[in-house]
Amino acid sequence: MKYIGAHVSAAGGVENAPIRAHEIGATAFALFTKNQRQWKAKPLTDKSIREFKANCQKFGFGPDQILPHDSYLINLGHPEPEKRQKSLDAFIDELERCELLGIRRLNFHPGSHLREISETDCLDYIAESINEALQQTNDVIAVLENTAGQGSNLGHRHEQLAHIIEKVEDKSRIGVCFDTCHAYAGGYDLKNDYEGVMQDFSDVIGFKYLQGMHLNDSKATLGQRVDRHHSLGEGEIGWQCFEKIMQDPRIDNIPLTLETIEPNIWPEEIAQLKTFAGISST
Ligand SMILES: [Zn+2]
Ligand SMILES: [Zn+2]
Repeated sequence: MKYIGAHVSAAGGVENAPIRAHEIGATAFALFTKNQRQWKAKPLTDKSIREFKANCQKFGFGPDQILPHDSYLINLGHPEPEKRQKSLDAFIDELERCELLGIRRLNFHPGSHLREISETDCLDYIAESINEALQQTNDVIAVLENTAGQGSNLGHRHEQLAHIIEKVEDKSRIGVCFDTCHAYAGGYDLKNDYEGVMQDFSDVIGFKYLQGMHLNDSKATLGQRVDRHHSLGEGEIGWQCFEKIMQDPRIDNIPLTLETIEPNIWPEEIAQLKTFAGISST
């Protein structure tokens, strides 16, 4: 089954996210469980947790249909030990919030070397941070997102994600979220060579680690290494890639969410994707 949705707002409380997702015809959704631009967040209230779970049940969002995104401030590969620790503490808090909400996965950007340390050292720090976070929490899967490789962000090559996975001790709690815009801007030609890109993903990382996708077209050109999303079909990638994804059996039963730039057309984008997947929109 293809679970298709968007990154919806959690304004007014996380319990509103499944309502908003349902309103746009989504069968999956992403959200922030706290303000993504701040370090500190109030703990989730019992009422919020109860209502989030009730709304997910009411609108049919199971654990495989939800993929929260962590704070943009977190850098698990930060060159400075104190700042890396601050990121680790915030990451553990995010994992705990997911546990409280009954969510199985947490999506995050691997980290940045800030041109102060080597790529390899940074990737090793990221893996170390993940190991520490997984030891201190119970069951949420840490889901690395591929990046566009903007600035000193790592995770724009499949080999970099594989390097991290290789060093994570509990392989049952590490996964990958594949963002189509980031992949294309990072140099993977999803427009002209979908099969080749997916074969490389399969060979270097492996589809068993695929825990979600972000479906975005790209304003940036192939390999430009800047992160600029576009509405589906409006950017450099074009609709055909998204049709192929919807018909690819290797990409079943995981959350597939839009982070495209015009939320008012999400219902149409979701409906088109459902059509490609052979799902009737009712
Ligand atoms: Zn993304
Ligand atoms: Zn992005």
